[in-house]
Amino acid sequence: MSNCAVVGINWGDEGKGRMVDMLTENADFVVRYQGGGNAGHTVVNEFGKFALHLLPSGIFRPGVMNILGNGVALDLENLWDEMESVRKGGVALTPDNLRISERASLLLPWHRELDGLEEARLKDKKYGSTKQGIAPFYSDKYQKKTIMAGELFYPELLREHLKDLLEWKNLILTGVYGAEPADLDALVAWVEKYGKLFAPYICDTGALIREAGKTGKSILFEAQLGSLRDLDMGIYPYTTSSNTLAAYAPVGSGAPTVHIDDVIGVVKAYSTCVGEGPFVCEWFGSDADELRRVGFEFGAKTGRPRRVGPIDIVATRYGVECQNATAIALTKVDVLSYMDKIPVCTHYELDGKIIDNFPFPAALGKCKPVIEYMDGWKTDISKVRTWEDLPLNARKYVEYIEQNIGCRIKYVSVGPERDACIIR
Ligand code: GDP
Repeated sequence: MSNCAVVGINWGDEGKGRMVDMLTENADFVVRYQGGGNAGHTVVNEFGKFALHLLPSGIFRPGVMNILGNGVALDLENLWDEMESVRKGGVALTPDNLRISERASLLLPWHRELDGLEEARLKDKKYGSTKQGIAPFYSDKYQKKTIMAGELFYPELLREHLKDLLEWKNLILTGVYGAEPADLDALVAWVEKYGKLFAPYICDTGALIREAGKTGKSILFEAQLGSLRDLDMGIYPYTTSSNTLAAYAPVGSGAPTVHIDDVIGVVKAYSTCVGEGPFVCEWFGSDADELRRVGFEFGAKTGRPRRVGPIDIVATRYGVECQNATAIALTKVDVLSYMDKIPVCTHYELDGKIIDNFPFPAALGKCKPVIEYMDGWKTDISKVRTWEDLPLNARKYVEYIEQNIGCRIKYVSVGPERDACIIR
């Protein structure tokens, strides 16, 4: 069986969770390999509607092993709450279907606190953090100042390690931010509490995945956010603090040699973006309000209204290249059914010149969108299940995007439900 990665092509919220939930039918393993609980994947299936933050979207499929890889920001406190809410929906979550990498680093309470303190310090220059502690977490990880989950099995060493980290962290909390110092006993108690709850789940997941790769099991790698939020390739500094690219999946899963056969890039039929940063094709006013209302574009984690606009071919083509996508899932095409004319951002104008390539982030603020319009279809397509039954203008829209982003659109999603998808 083949391995695939399901990744975002744009700014996130493209509908990856919905695609993973559908595609897990053929998967033996589903692996989250980067990011934390700062975004949400919304999944609608026979158990109900769930906003997943850190749990892999394969947890709803019996027989699928779900893994949180070494690349994630492991926030045990929020993960436990998320597990409890999913269990309430009647979904079993045990070490039989969920494992956590012993090499995943722990997001500690002070990471959340530091996120809030830094956003407050930045005032109007803030990056739009969700204050889940993700940026302080990853910067500590790269400074080698975090605890790995496997250390929970070495309590004496762990206490010493926490003590060293706390001494250093208190210099920052008190000296830089004038905040209260963290308390060692409280920190140890927090780690012990969650250590007990999670001990049965923590193991060498890299070995599991490497073995799965050797024995022909199919592995689905699930990313958070999208290409344009990738730390290295995105709209830095308005990126996230990890690599959202498929190329990072083997490393963030602890299986650097596992081959990915297919990269399914998820693209929304229009653009949305949460938080700060340049967003060239942004709409304002009543057009934006209407698209936001029809598409229900409010953050799954924060409830924040998302910024919206027409599909951006320039950014999407760049996102496709960064992901090296082999197929595209175009989602929320049904949302556009209310429009008479469908706007498409085909190029950017920069300093009086028309450009096709996604520019360096600092130039984005000066770019203006060049918009063309296609005829709408003005009919409900949410029940359509075959390509032939899609209205001609909807097919033309899909084909136009396909031709201009350089990758085949294999899936056309027309609703959030598992079966509301046309496979071409
Ligand atoms: P993710 O983080 O990429 O998984 O995206 P989100 O879950 O934040 O946002 C996608 C939202 O769109 C969710 O509420 C989905 O249920 C919903 N959704 C996904 N695909 C479709 C679609 O084709 N049509 C409609 N109407 N909603 C969709």
